[in-house]
Amino acid sequence: MFARVPLCCLPTPCHPLPRLGAELGLDLWVKRDDLTGFAGGGNKGRKLEYLMAEAKAKGVQRVVCSGSLQSNFVRQIGAACSVLGIACTAVVMRLPYDAAFGPPVGPVPSTGGNQLLDLLFGVEIRRVPDGSWEQLAAAAEAAAREHEEAGEQVWLVPLGGSSALGAYAFAQAAREVGEDWDFVVVATSSGSTQAGLGWAWHGRRPHVIGVSADPEPDLADDIAAVAVSLDDLVGERKAMSVADFDVRRDWVGPGYNVPSGKGREAIKRLARTEGLLLDPVYTSKAFAALLDLAAANEVSGAVLFWHTGGLPVVFAQSDGAG
Ligand SMILES: *Cc1c(COP(=O)(O)O)cnc(C)c1O
Repeated sequence: MFARVPLCCLPTPCHPLPRLGAELGLDLWVKRDDLTGFAGGGNKGRKLEYLMAEAKAKGVQRVVCSGSLQSNFVRQIGAACSVLGIACTAVVMRLPYDAAFGPPVGPVPSTGGNQLLDLLFGVEIRRVPDGSWEQLAAAAEAAAREHEEAGEQVWLVPLGGSSALGAYAFAQAAREVGEDWDFVVVATSSGSTQAGLGWAWHGRRPHVIGVSADPEPDLADDIAAVAVSLDDLVGERKAMSVADFDVRRDWVGPGYNVPSGKGREAIKRLARTEGLLLDPVYTSKAFAALLDLAAANEVSGAVLFWHTGGLPVVFAQSDGAG
């Protein structure tokens, strides 16, 4: 329906986790979007297939994006820009945070990992001092303006590639796994992954639980807004609202980009039962939620963990307290 640049090897694998499933009393499966086959894997590859097709059609010469130093999105869009011969500038903070909550305390994955890969993909990194997400957005706007004034055709990309087209990629992805699930558990942050999956299955099984990687209380509103924009994009009225999105904020831990104790336990548990790796910022917190929800009988039956990637951050060196 929309132009697409093939970047990923799709469909990604989907397989059971029998040992851990038996321990938890679940029919537990994992959808391996950590294995998209693109630039180290992760959920952003799917969004970028559509976003970059649009950028190409518009004749974009430079992409300006933003995120943390260890952003998986920056890494994947940097690689996508390489594929299309588009320049890429990333405005990054070591630790962007929600203004209402202030900077979280704890070790922050900083050097190595995605930061190293960004350099390999030729991303122009502009590091700015830590601050709020609003300050990060303002710095990205300023960088975009600068390049525009220098005569370039610039595209300022939304955070995490979360737009109607980004969500569309996940509405499509939902078809790869069918509807025979009771629950789907997925990490959520900028929101278009959960928006697209939730939109695809609206009014049907499975029930999607998004586990937030940051404390921002308005995330469900943002996700609903993306879902409504998807209505407009595809011309199909689902008119979803905040109440249609189950977003859990109890597993954020200290805050965005700072690993949590429960997340660390989840990483070890999955590694030592199934040989499967999670990242410290998103998927470990989502999987910690799955473990707690299974223990509380809040999820049961056929449960699909949608693995959104983030492996490079496992190899990042941390700084800060802890
Ligand atoms: C970006 C990201 C997410 C969150 O996806 P959104 O669509 O931004 O909500 C989850 N996990 C990983 C590893 C990510 O990089």
